Amino acid sequence: MDNQELIEEIEKGMVNTYSRLPRVIKKEIGSLMFDVEDEIIINFLSNYGSRIHHPKIIKALQEQAETLGAVSNAIYHTGLLFAGELADFCGYEKALLMNVGAEAIERIIKIVRKYGYSQMGIPRNELAKIITVSGAFHGRTYGAGSASDGSIDSHDFGPLLPGFIKIPFGNSKALKQTIKRKRYIAAVLMEPIQAEAGVNVPSPGYLAECKEICQEAGILFCLDEIQTGFGRTGKMFCWQHENAKPDIMAIGKAIGAGLIPVSAVVGNKDIIDIFEPGQDGSTYAGYPLACAVGSAVLRVIQETKLDEQAAIKGEVLMAKLRAIKSDYIKEIRGKGLLIGIELKPEAGGAQKLCKELGKKHRLFVKEAHENVIRLEPALDIPLPLIDLAAERIKKVLEK
Ligand SMILES: *Cc1c(COP(=O)(O)O)cnc(C)c1O
Repeated sequence: MDNQELIEEIEKGMVNTYSRLPRVIKKEIGSLMFDVEDEIIINFLSNYGSRIHHPKIIKALQEQAETLGAVSNAIYHTGLLFAGELADFCGYEKALLMNVGAEAIERIIKIVRKYGYSQMGIPRNELAKIITVSGAFHGRTYGAGSASDGSIDSHDFGPLLPGFIKIPFGNSKALKQTIKRKRYIAAVLMEPIQAEAGVNVPSPGYLAECKEICQEAGILFCLDEIQTGFGRTGKMFCWQHENAKPDIMAIGKAIGAGLIPVSAVVGNKDIIDIFEPGQDGSTYAGYPLACAVGSAVLRVIQETKLDEQAAIKGEVLMAKLRAIKSDYIKEIRGKGLLIGIELKPEAGGAQKLCKELGKKHRLFVKEAHENVIRLEPALDIPLPLIDLAAERIKKVLEK
């Protein structure tokens, strides 16, 4: 079957939830993907920033698969030492292991509500509330979707989870006022940079101000670093750009290297260690393969200094993009290797240009929001591929 026939066959059996580039990928070598017609496509999305290519991670996965599969969470296994390693790596005492990002956010919602009732004295007949922000993306389940801005955006999906107060992103005054005016607020939850909303970078100092406001008010400051974590923005975690360490942090994506799903909530034990056995769980949470991959990822990130690589390569890419002279570009923004090119309306939308880049120039990128081309290559991408990608982007934008 050729590319088109395969797509038709795939679509017959698959529930359609994504708009896809019409190429069928069969293998990859690093950041180069090969489709079924042996076209070579540069991967500049890297599974939304989760892919890490390293033989040590592959080997860890293979060896673990041969040694021990899931034994259930009704018994211990040696891999569970990963929880402590991960917490320590992130600068906390404990980790609640999960599988996908949305699940980690669900757990944050559970934790802060319970914390609100049991530790903050929010009356149990009231709703412990969580402040979230405009443009937020936290995942597609009901809780995470309710914390998000529009990720469950049709009335046909029925009522969302109550208890979220939405304020504008990037405005710490709004946060202060909302905390003053409303009662029974347990936590604030946001992304340090909003990737899905179009790589929205708040002005410097915003996160630190939010953290301070939360501390003063005695409410929990929670960050979703699922996409920004593990070096993506040029620091190991995005909050480190302004020393705004959260009380609770959600991580996901890159900790599974794009090989298997791994996510977690990390925090200190007085805050996140509030479950009784039976109050939470997941069949695959912390199963041996996840722990082996996660552990290997932590080692590889440290050994290869992926955070520093992101900072350096991000500057190279940013400089090349800034040199493009195009009437289509409104703004180029981002940190490290999380970069957005915001287009003017006359460009005809980011989706059109992303499709053109993929189909004609074999550069795989994905729009974020309507007018932003999001660039998010693997942190281990070789510099020559960054050069090549920038040339292809230039071709599309300079015409
Ligand atoms: C991807 C993402 C999620 C959801 O993660 P899934 O693994 O897709 O459930 C949540 N928050 C942010 C910031 C993300 O980028």
